[in-house]
Amino acid sequence: MRTSTYRNTILATLKEAHLLSIADICKSIPQVNFSTVFRNLEQLCKEGLVKRLFIDKDYVLYESINPHNPHDHFFCTTCHMIQSLAPQKNFLKQIPGIEISDVLVRGICESCKK
Ligand SMILES: [Zn+2]
Ligand SMILES: [Zn+2]
Repeated sequence: MRTSTYRNTILATLKEAHLLSIADICKSIPQVNFSTVFRNLEQLCKEGLVKRLFIDKDYVLYESINPHNPHDHFFCTTCHMIQSLAPQKNFLKQIPGIEISDVLVRGICESCKK
C-alpha cells in the first residue's frame, strides 16, 4: 500500500471511532506497522486534521478534528473511561497571555464512585 493510501485509511479509521491509540489503529489496518502509523499521524496533526490527547506519558490518543463538533474530554483515572464534554475553556478564568486550545478534565466517573 502506498503511504498516501495509509494516510487516508488512518484518517478514515479515526473518523469512524472517537479516540484511538496507535496500537488500536495498527490492529484495525492489516499489515501496517507502528512507525508508519506514527509518521502519518504526525503529518495529519501538522495539517490540523488530527489532534493528540496526552493522557499520560505512555498513553496518547488521537482523534480526527471535526470543526462541527468541538469538544473537550473527561478521563476517569480509575476505569480509564473517556467522555466528551462541551468545550470547557469559556468556563475557565482566563489566564493573561495564554490561548487555551483544549482541556482535559480528570476525575472519577459516576460508576467508579459507587
Ligand atoms: Zn470510572
Ligand atoms: Zn473527542
